[in-house]
Amino acid sequence: MQYVTLNDGHKMPQLGFGVFQVPDLSQAEQAVSDALDTGYRLIDTAAAYGNEEAVGAAIQKSSVDRSDIFVTSKLWVDHFTYERATQGIDESLTKLGLDYLDLYLLHQPYGDVAGAWRALVDAQKAGKIKSIGVSNFAPDQLMNLELMSDVKPALNQIEVSPWFQEPTAVDFAKRQDIQVEAWAPFAEGQHHIFTNETIANIGKKYGKANGQVILRWLLQRGIVVIPKSVHKERMAENFNVFDFELSDADMQVLNGLDKNESQFFDHRDPAAIESIFGQSLKALRD
Ligand code: NAP
Repeated sequence: MQYVTLNDGHKMPQLGFGVFQVPDLSQAEQAVSDALDTGYRLIDTAAAYGNEEAVGAAIQKSSVDRSDIFVTSKLWVDHFTYERATQGIDESLTKLGLDYLDLYLLHQPYGDVAGAWRALVDAQKAGKIKSIGVSNFAPDQLMNLELMSDVKPALNQIEVSPWFQEPTAVDFAKRQDIQVEAWAPFAEGQHHIFTNETIANIGKKYGKANGQVILRWLLQRGIVVIPKSVHKERMAENFNVFDFELSDADMQVLNGLDKNESQFFDHRDPAAIESIFGQSLKALRD
C-alpha cells in the first residue's frame, strides 16, 4: 500500500474503498468485511449513505487492528450549524461504534459552512477526529474557508475520473498543500468506461483491465482513490494496481479523454443546488 502524508502530519492510504449506494446494511457490512480481507485499509462512508452502522460492525468484527484502518465519514448539510455539526460528529461516532474518526469531511460546500467547520475544528482539538477536510469544494470555496479559519482542510474529496479530470481544482489543491481524493473514479461506469477502447489498448500493454488503468492514472497524479464495488473479485482487481507504472505517453493519452463536464451534476449550478439541497437547508431555518 502507498500512503500520502496530509498537511496535519497524519498518513492515509492512497487507495481505499467507498460504500456509497450500498443502503442494505448487511450488504454494506459484507462489502466492508470483504474489502478489509482484500487488504483495503481506508474505508469511506458518510452520514448521508445511511450505512455507518454497517461499516462500524465490519470494523469491529475484523481481525485488522482499528489503528491500521483509516475511517472517513462526512457530515450532511442538514447538520451545518455549529451545534448540529457537533451533534452530527457524535452521531457518526456512535453509529460507527468508534471513539475517533481518522477523517471527517463537510460533505458539501453549502449552508452554514463556517459554523460546521468550527465544530470540526473543535472536535479535532478534543481528539474525536484526527484529520478534517471537505468535499465538493471548488477552489474559490476552499480559499474562502482557508481565509475564514486558522485550520486548513487536510483534504478535498471531489469528482475526478477520466471523463471529468478537474486539472485546475487538482493543481490548486496541490499548491495549497490540500490532498485531493477522487470520488467516482470510474464515473460509476458511465460512457462504457470499463470497455472504452482507448483505455483498453493502454491496459493491454500492462496486462491490466480498464479500471486498473484508471486507478493507476489517478495514483500517478498524486490523488487518493476510493473505488466502490460489492463484488469481491472486483475489489481484488481494483486493489491490484501497485505492480505497474503508466508511461508518460500513456498518462498523456488518458489526460486527453477529459469531457470537462461533471458526470453527475454541476456543483456550481444554482438550480441543482436548490433542488438537491434546498429542502435540507430551508429546514435548518425553521
Ligand atoms: P465508482 O467507484 O466510480 O463506480 C462504482 C461502480 O463501478 C459500481 O457500479 C461498481 O459495480 C462498478 N465497478 C467497480 N469496480 C469495477 C470493476 N473492476 N469492473 C467493473 N465494474 C466495476 O462510483 P462511486 O461509488 O460513486 O464512487 C466511489 C466512492 O466515492 C463512493 O462509494 C463514495 O465513498 C465516494 N463518493 C463521494 C461523493 C461525494 O460527494 N463526496 C459522491 C459520490 C461518491 P459493483 O458494485 O456492482 O461491483
